Amino acid sequence: MSRGINTRCLHLEEDEGKTEHFGAISFPIFQTATYAHPGVGKSTGYDYSRLQNPTRAQVEKVVAELEGGIDAFALSSGMAAISLLFELFSPGDHIITEADLYGGSIRLFDNVSRKNGYELTYIDCSTEDVESKIKENTKAIYLETPTNPMMNVSDIKEIAKAAKAHNLLLIVDNTFLSPYFQNPLSLGADIVIHSGTKFLGGHNDTLAGFIVTNREDIRDRLRFLIKTTGAGLSPFDSWLILRGIKTLGLRMERAEKNALGLATWLKSQKNVTKVLYPGLPEHPGHEIMKKQSRGFGSMITFKVDTKEHALKILENVRMIKYAESLGGVETLITYPTTQTHADVPEETRLKNGITPTTLRLSVGIEDIEDLKAELKNVLNYND
Ligand SMILES: *Cc1c(COP(=O)(O)O)cnc(C)c1O
Repeated sequence: MSRGINTRCLHLEEDEGKTEHFGAISFPIFQTATYAHPGVGKSTGYDYSRLQNPTRAQVEKVVAELEGGIDAFALSSGMAAISLLFELFSPGDHIITEADLYGGSIRLFDNVSRKNGYELTYIDCSTEDVESKIKENTKAIYLETPTNPMMNVSDIKEIAKAAKAHNLLLIVDNTFLSPYFQNPLSLGADIVIHSGTKFLGGHNDTLAGFIVTNREDIRDRLRFLIKTTGAGLSPFDSWLILRGIKTLGLRMERAEKNALGLATWLKSQKNVTKVLYPGLPEHPGHEIMKKQSRGFGSMITFKVDTKEHALKILENVRMIKYAESLGGVETLITYPTTQTHADVPEETRLKNGITPTTLRLSVGIEDIEDLKAELKNVLNYND
């Protein structure tokens, strides 16, 4: 039986019993661009750090292990990972994607992928029939679940069935839950994406991205592409992500506990008109998540009575920071309309439900009473 996920965040089975690197418990940072060859036609396994670096290789192995993939690729950001992944496609290929995606993904698809001749169809994968959108030239389905920021939940297993039946790649951006709470490959996905900047790193201090796959053909193609395009993660940033992953379980559990407490509490606040958190039993995705995930995460989207009030909240928070990003130990609040989703056309934004009264909270690991006190203060600012 494979070991528990908390153990796997700390130990790679292949390292066991070894005392390489003088027995260092913390994996060394191999800050080198290139490697001496032992002889003509010989290699240590490392030739040049754009192709591979031992510290990067280590974080790739850990992330592959956590997601149940055969390999992972560490890139300089989540967007670098998605950009590299999209090099798998060719002009004329059609990709069905979730409509409520991270804003940067939509910006990439609309401005770069379309220019490259890719055809994209955005749908609400949580409610619309994905299979009916498949065409002759469809090559992939691209999902987030829960989505950013509207927290829509899709049934990965169901969509994987449709993907398999039509020989399509199923790609899941698993950033919001991390491998600690959800493993899309085990539900039938072919490729998992992470913004490692978020829960994997976990400390709001490093940008990183990952692609994980369980398909050998895709792994071989991506190895060629990462070496050719060159956005691999640096040795030091690889080390920071390795360090962050050591406490992934502790952080995820505690942040989730805070999130459930806050979501329940927010519902009772008079200026709050809606709370979207899949851990709440009334959330439409609650039952699906109970089947496919081990937790509900720590992202909450909520709406307040007026736009003015939403802006006041952003201006008045002090301990909670008004900042983009998510998944770190510090609680952050953001305004999707002008921040994370500013480049998404207004019409699409509103269609997805991102209104000027929508706020997104990434709940950290502070004491919940302090988070409530701060939120109470900003929610009732004019009482
Ligand atoms: C942040 C984020 C990304 C992009 O990652 P970066 O590391 O910021 O480039 C992609 N997908 C999701 C869901 C994200 O939250």
